[in-house]
Amino acid sequence: MEKKKNVWKWGVLIIIILAVGAVGFLIGQNISASKYQAEKELDYRLNRSDLDGLGEIDGTIYVTGHKSPDTDTVGSSIAYAALLQKLGYDAVPVILGDINNETRYVLESGGIDTPKLLEDASACNMVLVDHSEYTQSAEGLKDANVLSIIDHHGDGSVTTGKQLIYDARPFGSTATIIWLRYRNYGIEVDQKIAYVMAGSILSDTQNFQSDTTTFADREALKELSQIAGISDLDALYQEMFKASISYEGMTDEEIFFDDYKEYESGGKKYSIGCVNAYDEDIAGDLVERMAKVIPGTLTSTGMDMTFAQISIFHDGISITYLVPSDEAAKEVLQTAFGEKAVYDGLSFRLEPGISRRQVLVPAINDVLESHPQE
Ligand code: MN
Ligand code: MN
Repeated sequence: MEKKKNVWKWGVLIIIILAVGAVGFLIGQNISASKYQAEKELDYRLNRSDLDGLGEIDGTIYVTGHKSPDTDTVGSSIAYAALLQKLGYDAVPVILGDINNETRYVLESGGIDTPKLLEDASACNMVLVDHSEYTQSAEGLKDANVLSIIDHHGDGSVTTGKQLIYDARPFGSTATIIWLRYRNYGIEVDQKIAYVMAGSILSDTQNFQSDTTTFADREALKELSQIAGISDLDALYQEMFKASISYEGMTDEEIFFDDYKEYESGGKKYSIGCVNAYDEDIAGDLVERMAKVIPGTLTSTGMDMTFAQISIFHDGISITYLVPSDEAAKEVLQTAFGEKAVYDGLSFRLEPGISRRQVLVPAINDVLESHPQE
């Protein structure tokens, strides 16, 4: 009997000890969590204070990327202007020239307006993103009030002679630095802004294929794609790539001269215009368009013959179509590639595709030098 009572006593005691232990543990957890919160709060406030150091800013802040804007430059301008707005500043993103087809795709699919063009930065409050060179920046920048430079290139020529926020980090994209600034300020990125930032990181790191990609870029893209609700990043990158080589809004002649070079060999002047295609349907369409337009370019360029080189180069696909301007150009290609290529009446199709510099030019030179044409 006495023994049974003791067992009871011990049982109750153990339960009490366990309960006290559990409560103590939970309280401890809470204390360390709130301590962590407080530390984080301090972090935010310390990080925010760099903006306070700039003092009162009179008027609008213009956030701009470089001339010939790319997706990172435009996306970073939009994202940093949005961050400044959330911090209570009057900030707007601007561009210094027409956006390219890849950027247009990202902005349109993300439902974001294209920033306005800034003609002259004189007397403006400026934040530079994705560059720090006067030659790459806005007209009148030397007479502007430069507040900040956020960049992932080397330190450029822009100097201010006063305090500024200069945040330069060796990341794969400027958008990643801006993501880190949102984090440090403890500010949430909006869904649309997260989408354009994700596009910027994909573009500059070439979907992480570039060796400039860092851990920070991967973390940033992981978080931003979740916020933006992007379920398939590879698919988004494919669409961006497709848009980048779409030549949308260009005339056939502009497409031919987009990546055009002139050569001379065996007393003959010739030229080659390189054109990119995403798939064989698009390539076929471009072959027809180039076949129509290139004979007419010979007079204005003073060439004896010309070639359009249409290539599909991505994801393991490698095909080149060579379009000759006339009968003489066709014979040159026939001699150079007749055995390897398939001629369809308009173009010679080569698979795998060839490089202009390494294969096509030496092959044409060989023919022109060994078969001088009258
Ligand atoms: Mn850039
Ligand atoms: Mn960049």
